[in-house]
Amino acid sequence: MRLLTVSHLEKAFDGNRAVDGVSFSVAAGELLALIGPNGAGKSTVFNMLNGQLGADAGSILLGDQELLGRAPRDIWRMGVGRTFQIAETFGSLTVLENVQLALLSADRKLFSIWHRAARHKREEAMELLLRVGMAGQAERPCGVLAYGDVKRVELAIAVANSPRLLLMDEPTAGMAPQERIELMALTRQWVTRRGLAVLFTEHSMDVVFAFADRIVVLAGGRVIADGKPADIRNNPRVQEVYFGSGKTFDNTLRSRDTA
Ligand code: ADP
Ligand code: MG
Repeated sequence: MRLLTVSHLEKAFDGNRAVDGVSFSVAAGELLALIGPNGAGKSTVFNMLNGQLGADAGSILLGDQELLGRAPRDIWRMGVGRTFQIAETFGSLTVLENVQLALLSADRKLFSIWHRAARHKREEAMELLLRVGMAGQAERPCGVLAYGDVKRVELAIAVANSPRLLLMDEPTAGMAPQERIELMALTRQWVTRRGLAVLFTEHSMDVVFAFADRIVVLAGGRVIADGKPADIRNNPRVQEVYFGSGKTFDNTLRSRDTA
């Protein structure tokens, strides 16, 4: 079943066509990777999906509801979650408090409710932390956590509202290869268990090919390929965009990803 349907989406910045007629869809229970070289338009697509950026043309349907023109908070309420960046996790609050706050609030900026909230949602928050392997660090301030652990907390926060669609723009940026694998394996569990749909961007092709059910490739603001990992891996146009002619993912990946 199609959950998200993006059609003919367009966005230009001062005449630069950052997103130039992009169409793709995501099904419930599907992990879809949106990949492409730097400047391909991936983040611009994400920011239109979550309502941070308006579109020039096109349509973004969640089920049969149009998302374009809605505020980020409304889109969040409709069931589109996203992973927040590290700076948006409250460093002085504990791991547990951060997840409790996420369970209570859409934008997690409502400090005033915090004192009333402290007793609430504790069990639910602990359950989420168990799932991401962070229950043991629940009482530590987020500010002292290792980077990979912050990312796990961010994932718990992102799924706190039980989204139908989760947007993850470079969720594993800055992580060690093993941590990347672990984070995506956790994400995969949610996809399978709850029928969650995930749209993610990712630089590590090892991660993309290991976890994506399907891959959409952007270049110059356009979709140049859309298919299963095996098809994308062998697609000459994709290989050319990434490596120039003559090289393939298989003989290039290892050195790049471990660099
Ligand atoms: P990606 O995430 O695939 O690296 P982006 O979506 O960030 O690509 O960028 C696509 C293009 O749009 C790039 O040429 C970039 O310079 C341009 N761009 C992105 N955001 C802005 C902005 N806020 N203002 C002007 N140009 C932008
Ligand atoms: Mg980007």
